[in-house]
Amino acid sequence: MGIEEKLPSGVLLTTVEGVAGYFRKASFWPATFGLACCAIEMMTSGGPKYDLARFGMEVFRASPRQADLMIVAGRVSQKMAPVLRQIYDQMAEPKWVLAMGVCASSGGMFNNYAVVQGVDHVVPVDMYLPGCPPRPEMLIDAILKLHDQVQHTKLGANRAAQIKELEDAGLVS
Ligand code: SF4
Repeated sequence: MGIEEKLPSGVLLTTVEGVAGYFRKASFWPATFGLACCAIEMMTSGGPKYDLARFGMEVFRASPRQADLMIVAGRVSQKMAPVLRQIYDQMAEPKWVLAMGVCASSGGMFNNYAVVQGVDHVVPVDMYLPGCPPRPEMLIDAILKLHDQVQHTKLGANRAAQIKELEDAGLVS
């Protein structure tokens, strides 16, 4: 007989990884970082109307060392790319990156020499969000999807391989 069958109903069983995943996703702190027009929608998401605080995210950190989420909100110019990379490097592990809008995801309408054609040329991206600009509801939806990834990520494991595993298992989309 398994331990689950011996215990009275109402007793919850979990793992350290499960608890760590839950707390990680429930306390996600974005870096204060806006590059262009998409940043206005990102800031709106943190205001009283959309109330990002409901999801444990009201605190945008001014120091990258205290942040675990980088929301790349806007097109990334070639001049800005090394700065962005430096901020990413200063963030403590584990950390995640969300490319907000078509410009951050692929360069968007700025198909020219001055703009990086997708921030994934500079930092690894965990979530791409389309739109120009994406509305606050879309950003919140992307963050909640990222929460699923964060909650189910095993401690200390290769993130890319895990995300593939979670997608294959249908736990995240
Ligand atoms: Fe601006 Fe649209 Fe590009 Fe966002 S996706 S930075 S709103 S042009």
